[in-house]
Amino acid sequence: AKRVYLFSEGSKDDRDLLGGKGANLCEMTALKLPVPFGFVITTPTCREYFENGNKLPTLLEQEYRVALDLVEKQMGTRFGDPENPLLFSVRSGAPISMPGMMNTILNLGINDEIAEGLSRKTDNPRFAYDCYRRFIQMFADVVLGADTHAMEQVIEDYKQAKAYETDVAMEAEDWQAVIATFKTMVKFPEDPFEQLRLAVEAVFQSWHTPRANVYREMNNIPDSLGTAVTVQSMVFGNFGDDSGSGVAFTRNPSTGERHFFGEVLFNAAGEDVVAGIRTPLSVDAMEERMPDAYKELLESQALLESHYRDMQDIEFTVQEGRFYLLQTRSGKRTGRASVRIAVDMVREGMINEKEALLRVSPEHVQSFLHPMVDPDAERTVVASGLPASPGGATGVAVFSADEAVSVEADGKKVILIRRETTPEDIHGMRVAEGILTELGGMTSHAAVVARGMGVCAITGCGELRVSVQDGTATASDGTVIKRGDTVTLDGATGDVMLGDIPKVEASTSDDFQTLLSWADKHRRLKVRANAETPEDAAKARELGAEGIGLCRTEHMFFASDRIDHMRAMILSTDRKERKRHLATLQEFQHADMLELYRVMDGLPVTIRLLDPPLHEFLPHDEADAEALAERLNKDPAEIHQARNDLAEVNPMLGFRGCRLSVVYPEITRMQVRAIIGAALQAREEGLNPLPEIMIPLVVNVREIRLISEVIDRGIAKVTKEKSVSLRYKIGTMMETPRACLGADRLASAVEFMSFGTNDLTQMTYGFSRDDAGRFIPQYLDAKIIEDDPFVSLDQRAVGRLMRMAVQESRQAKKGIKYGICGEHGGDPRSIRFCHDLGLDYVSCSPYRVPVARVAAAQARV
Ligand code: PEP
Ligand code: MG
Repeated sequence: AKRVYLFSEGSKDDRDLLGGKGANLCEMTALKLPVPFGFVITTPTCREYFENGNKLPTLLEQEYRVALDLVEKQMGTRFGDPENPLLFSVRSGAPISMPGMMNTILNLGINDEIAEGLSRKTDNPRFAYDCYRRFIQMFADVVLGADTHAMEQVIEDYKQAKAYETDVAMEAEDWQAVIATFKTMVKFPEDPFEQLRLAVEAVFQSWHTPRANVYREMNNIPDSLGTAVTVQSMVFGNFGDDSGSGVAFTRNPSTGERHFFGEVLFNAAGEDVVAGIRTPLSVDAMEERMPDAYKELLESQALLESHYRDMQDIEFTVQEGRFYLLQTRSGKRTGRASVRIAVDMVREGMINEKEALLRVSPEHVQSFLHPMVDPDAERTVVASGLPASPGGATGVAVFSADEAVSVEADGKKVILIRRETTPEDIHGMRVAEGILTELGGMTSHAAVVARGMGVCAITGCGELRVSVQDGTATASDGTVIKRGDTVTLDGATGDVMLGDIPKVEASTSDDFQTLLSWADKHRRLKVRANAETPEDAAKARELGAEGIGLCRTEHMFFASDRIDHMRAMILSTDRKERKRHLATLQEFQHADMLELYRVMDGLPVTIRLLDPPLHEFLPHDEADAEALAERLNKDPAEIHQARNDLAEVNPMLGFRGCRLSVVYPEITRMQVRAIIGAALQAREEGLNPLPEIMIPLVVNVREIRLISEVIDRGIAKVTKEKSVSLRYKIGTMMETPRACLGADRLASAVEFMSFGTNDLTQMTYGFSRDDAGRFIPQYLDAKIIEDDPFVSLDQRAVGRLMRMAVQESRQAKKGIKYGICGEHGGDPRSIRFCHDLGLDYVSCSPYRVPVARVAAAQARV
């Protein structure tokens, strides 16, 4: 088969054969754009090389020499000819873009004699010898595997001896002296054809460097693909004043504005623009200085954008007034720009709505919802943890919830730093700009609650030792964050920094709303929110939630005006006392539910019965326990006793979930009366409440039957009293492996089912969601797992349980409504999985709702 293709012989569809880079260069050549000519050696040749025991096919050199002759004709220069030299760049290019493979070699085809010829021909000795030394360094690095630090040191020492400040001071003689030293350090071939042969081999070999192997394994790229080799004629922007190099974007990559945008450096090589040694000028400067090249640049960029139908990032060079395009690819952009460009391009008729939706990433959507730490701002990172809740936040460090409240009341922004958080910290979390914890994973209390509130949070930051008592957090390098220090958190990366780092403010835009409306049009999955406060619910509805998929009722009992009633109920010594406290709690629950129905009028509200083990409601330390004893007029010993009695060895697997309802049906009765009483009141207000009562942590259909009976009877009683009827649903959470394994039986007893993938993941793995933050980073580093299973659904095992559960449930009860309300309901990859699984809805924290809307559409289009 043909092993070598000229740029004039391929197209952008030949990625598999010619690699991404080669295919793109062919495409630009076919568009008649001025690309420096060259050829590509195919990926099957790479496979042949390895099959041959790492030997180039015998005929290969003959084949590329034929191509090379044609390149020489086109360029009017000759490879290896000192009088009129042609130099090449040699690059690797796999079908799928793969960082970690070979670097580029520039200026290949040069030696002593040719450098001298180049110097004569260009009348620019400094340029010629600079090219030569750059080539030796790159060749030594990439092909010979030499120690290039030593070579850099040679240059540094030389400059120091001469008291030169920068490379610009180096003249031809200086580079010649450096080259002479280089030549004592490495032996490199003087013969240009040998240089080329060795470079081609080096590209092939780079396919199997350890870095590349690991990258392929991680990204499931088959080893068999192989890489292509792109050999392209060099053009020089550092030839003189009528030369230059630049980069440009077809639209503004930061705002998305439809305005050509670029920078140029006159008399400079492409690397110099990238390296930023001089400040570039706007491309407009070319208009006067090199008008023909400028005109070609404008025409080329317009052609490339309409051809690729996306914003392009272009690299170009002008040599002696002649314009060349070196590269085009789709340009990186900010979130704001990505949305604007996508929406504009639909209006311009360049792409359709579905394509526009695919152009926007979850990070892009998020940038409209949260302020972000400016990615361009300088940052010194003290420690890194898990990016638990997005956004950027700056404030003074405080170490307890009460301190957070009092410092905030003084008009200061605060960052709440804790070892971990518990529901008792809620009041502090509410007022904090950001939350940082040493322990806890992506579904820990801190992470879940912060995400719900839209507050930036970093959890599992094990590099910090937090001492609440001393008011310090000490990083592994000894840096200490003290109470009162100003701290910045980057919730997108997990970076913790000292000082106030600039932010990019969030704000929505018309384009953003347009894009979301397209998402709604094209998605099948419904999107609900996990919320229990009226504020969070209102925010969720504003962001497009179509109901509440999870109201964690326990969160409603922690506010200071009711927590003691909850505690008193738990500490009750007889039924009568318990009933009395339950009656009070019912009033609170009723009022809270009524608020939720008002906010969610006409939309379903899924209310989960009480879930956590009861000890979570009790004070966590002695002092608080004593204070409580005093308030409740009890003997402190009694509280002490209760704390001991209720303490559990493994509370996540303990006395919680529907087990509470089985043992304390009176608690369930109280919740039901509140849920239904509030619904009836809402109806009297002319609203349309749609309550769905959900039973947590079920393992057995008899649990459901038993609790449903309590619910049904409770409701019947209330509605009979008022002689009204009310439509409600009873459903189960699917969060234990046993529930998934017996899903058909559970389905027969309920009207809806919702995966609680936080617990399901915890129980499938046997990883505690509160403690996994201590080892998940190491598991990721060691590549034992590719993703944190508490962030992105483990499709292989947890997903398999889910698939079985859905199939069996739907067999047992056709069309039963199925959702997910674990944190994965807001993760785009998991959302795609849920779409494929045929779920009816995902439910996620309010600020994830727009991300989920877009992700659900992307899963469908
Ligand atoms: C779950 O387990 O996935 C869930 C939604 O419930 P919680 O996070 O409250 O345990
Ligand atoms: Mg759960």
